[in-house]
Formats: sequence, C-alpha cells, structure tokens
Amino acid sequence: MDIAKIFNQQESNNSPLVDQRDGTHYPAGEDQDTFIVDTISGYLGGFRLSDILSTDNHTDDFKVTRSEYMLSRLRVLLIFFIVAVPAWLIIDLYTLSWEHFKPMIAVRISMSAVLLMICLQSTKKVGQKQTSVLLALTMLATMLFYAASILIVNSGAQEMPLAGYTVIPFLAISVMGLFPATILLSTSIMAMMAFIYIGLETYLGNLFSIEVFDALWIMAMTCGVTICIQSGQLLMLLKLYRESTRDPLTGLINRRVLMKQLTAEIEMQETIDRPFSVLMADLDRFKRVNDEYGHLVGDSVLKATARLIAIELRSSDVVARFGGEEFVVVLPGQIGDEALHVAERIRQRFEQTRVAIPDGIKIAISVSLGVTEYEPGERVEATLARVNATLYKAKEQGRNRVEFSQSEKFTNKQAS
Ligand code: GH3
Ligand code: MG
Ligand code: MG
Repeated sequence: MDIAKIFNQQESNNSPLVDQRDGTHYPAGEDQDTFIVDTISGYLGGFRLSDILSTDNHTDDFKVTRSEYMLSRLRVLLIFFIVAVPAWLIIDLYTLSWEHFKPMIAVRISMSAVLLMICLQSTKKVGQKQTSVLLALTMLATMLFYAASILIVNSGAQEMPLAGYTVIPFLAISVMGLFPATILLSTSIMAMMAFIYIGLETYLGNLFSIEVFDALWIMAMTCGVTICIQSGQLLMLLKLYRESTRDPLTGLINRRVLMKQLTAEIEMQETIDRPFSVLMADLDRFKRVNDEYGHLVGDSVLKATARLIAIELRSSDVVARFGGEEFVVVLPGQIGDEALHVAERIRQRFEQTRVAIPDGIKIAISVSLGVTEYEPGERVEATLARVNATLYKAKEQGRNRVEFSQSEKFTNKQAS
C-alpha cells in the first residue's frame, strides 16, 4: 500500500478514517451523509453545518461536556423563575381583578412547583437526551402557564391585555438563546411552542386576526435570532473543546481525553463486567527519520502513523497520541488475546507500507507494540505502566515486534 494516498486523503476534510473535527475514529462512509449540508456550509463562512444541525457528529465526551454546560444554565434559569413566578402575584394583586387574581394564585404556585421538580431532576447526573427533555419540559410548562393565564384573563369581565402575559411566548423563545442547543432540538421545541400558541388562539377564535398574524411573524423572527445565538454558542463551545482535546498534528485525541476514556472503560468493566485491552505503539528509530529527512518529514510520518493505526481499528476503539511518537489504543470489549491480534495486524501494516516523502523517496518505517488487558480492580496508572514496560520489552527484543504481558495473578485466575 502506498501511503501517498493516505496523505492525499488527509488533506481533505472528508477522510473516512480519522475525523478531522474532534479526533474520533469513524467508520468509512459516515462523513458522506453530511456532504451536502457541509457544501452549503462552505458558502456560509466555512463552519460545518452538520456540527450544529444535530449531535450525530459529536463525540460522547463532547455530548457530556455540552449537557453539563446546558444543565448548569438551566438550573440558574429555573431557580430564578421558581422565585419570580409566585413573586409576580404582588403585581397581579394590583393589575388583575379579584375574579382573575384568585385562579392566578393556583396557576402561579403550580408553575413554580413544576419548575422546582424539573430543577431537582437537573441536579442529578443526567445524559444528553435527558438534558434535552428537561429543556423541552421547561418550555412546555412555560407555554402551558401562558395558555392558562390567557384563558383566565379572557374569562368573565374582559381586562386590558397585560404585557406581562402577552410577552411570555416571546420571552420563552429568547431565553432559549442561553443554551448551545442544536438546530434540530431548538426547532422541535419551537414547533411545540408554536403549536400550543396556535391551538390557544384557535380555541379563542382569534387565529385569523391581524394581531395573531403579527404575533406569529414576530415569533418567527425571534426564533431565527435565537437559533443564530444558540448556533454561535455551540460552534464556539465545539471549537474550544476541539482545541483542548485534540492533538493538532494528527487530529487524534490527546492524553487528557484518553485518561477520561480509560476511566469510562473502567466504569464499564465494573458495572457490566466488560473487559478491555490497551496497546502502546512507538515508532522504531524515529530519531533517524528526523535526522535524515528533517522534522517536517518526521511530522508527516507521524500523521501517516495515526492513519495506519486507525485503519486496523473498529469505530468503537479509541486511539490517542500519548506522547511524541507514542500512540495508545483502547480496545473496549476485547481480551488480551484479541488485542494481540490487532497489534500484530498493525505491526504488519507498517511493515508492508512505504511512506512517500517529497522528491519521490519512499521510506520504510516499523513499529513496536506492547499489549495488555486491564486487570479488574487495578488503577489506570498500573495498566499504563504495564503496557509501557511491555513496549520496552519489544524494543529490547529487537524492535518491529509485539509483546504481551499480564500479571501472574491475573493469568492464573483466567486459567482457573
Ligand atoms: P526507538 O526505536 O528506541 O523508539 O528509537 P527512537 O529513535 O524512535 O527513539 P525515541 O522513541 O526515544 O524517539 C523519539 C523521537 O521522536 C525524538 C523526537 O525527536 C521525535 N519526536 C517527538 N515528537 C515529535 C514531533 O511532533 N515531530 C517530529 N518530527 N518528531 C518528534
Ligand atoms: Mg521510537
Ligand atoms: Mg518514543
């Protein structure tokens, strides 16, 4: 296999092997789904529209980061409204008739109680989907509160339309600008809100009035502005996240994220008894490449290395740049023997590949690998220390080889 092809792929943002956006290794073909939207986004200033449309291209780690951020904002918002909604009764006392004020007490206290329940739920460790549900529930409660208040104010003796009530849908849509939500999520919530608004106006027999048409038009404009604000936030969050979690040279995740992924794997091992293995790869005699061809060529070889490793992995595997020219692979669900096969495949791929560098020169590179399986109960540092020692055993034994090691206790336990 000629690695020049790999370099060419790398220059294009649509490479199926290693995602250029957040360093995730995706299966081939996945990027094609977003080709059309991303072509459009090219005309919109270069950002990837697929990044803000849905969470399909977000890594699990980013999903957690974004959810935590959204939840913390939602909590602050909820706490404010839990207090402000019943406090508004003081204003109602002066502006509403007694006939309208009485049911409003019940509506305001119920709304505050519902928001309190959502707020309590948001203090738990919830995932991305639940975060979206909590945001949608907050907006649903707000619109139902709005509908109930309008029905009260419109019943019996008519009162002047009070701005405190009529602006609620607009305020609710604007408040959504606080959240870095995807376009898919925010448009779904906005559609639900519009549905309630239109339903209410139909019930009141005002749907075809000029006032409702005017309100819907302003609502649509507010939705557009809110989506722009949300998307801007999401893009900024993604940019900062990617810069702090990816290795800029290879596009792989960095050591910090690797440690998080390893911790998550240990949790999976402890909860569902899923094993996992770890590989550590180090290029052989890499200093010579730098000395002979220069640092830039060395850099290209490192990029190629990241790709060569990724070719042999599944989409669920995790590959990180651990240090200079050391790479660590985590293989979820794979025991040591299976990992040994993967390592051997990687070694062979390097052996069969020639790296094309400028001036038409093709150079041979080889890699040594250490392999180990995580031993239940041990600290992640112990696994990494063992795989590192195993890698150096492979170097001592002559390089371009794979070594495997496990503690005696673990091997005996597996055998019995
Ligand atoms: P060994 O077979 O024992 O691993 O020999 P080696 O020459 O590969 O030794 P070692 O692993 O210690 O070499 C690391 C070299 O990797 C030293 C450093 O110049 C080079 N290196 C580390 N990071 C980068 C980088 O980002 N770009 C380039 N071009 N070289 C790097
Ligand atoms: Mg080396
Ligand atoms: Mg090294």
